[in-house]
Amino acid sequence: MISILNHGTNALVRLEGDRFDLPAGIRRWPVHWDDLTIEPVADADTTPTPEYRTGISGNRQDAVLHAVLPGTSTGLCAEPVSPLPICGWSLPFAPTSRRACVRCVALLVSSS
Ligand SMILES: [Zn+2]
Repeated sequence: MISILNHGTNALVRLEGDRFDLPAGIRRWPVHWDDLTIEPVADADTTPTPEYRTGISGNRQDAVLHAVLPGTSTGLCAEPVSPLPICGWSLPFAPTSRRACVRCVALLVSSS
């Protein structure tokens, strides 16, 4: 449906498909509202994905950034990590970071 016509009594619908398969080759048709069957569209994905924060392991130069669930101190890869709270706020995990843990990234990719 692309538009509502005549104060809600008709709908302008657009048909999909090859032009030669359409009735009289016409793509847009006005249809009386009562002749339509309207079905609700389901949400694409209602499952919330956990929001991972950044945890760190290793020393300063070899630091590895892990995906950590908020309030925990174990990376997704099961590595013990130090969460990085900054004034009560923690950094979101960035899988594209140069220092991102490859196992955490792989587990994130396989779980999504
Ligand atoms: Zn990790």
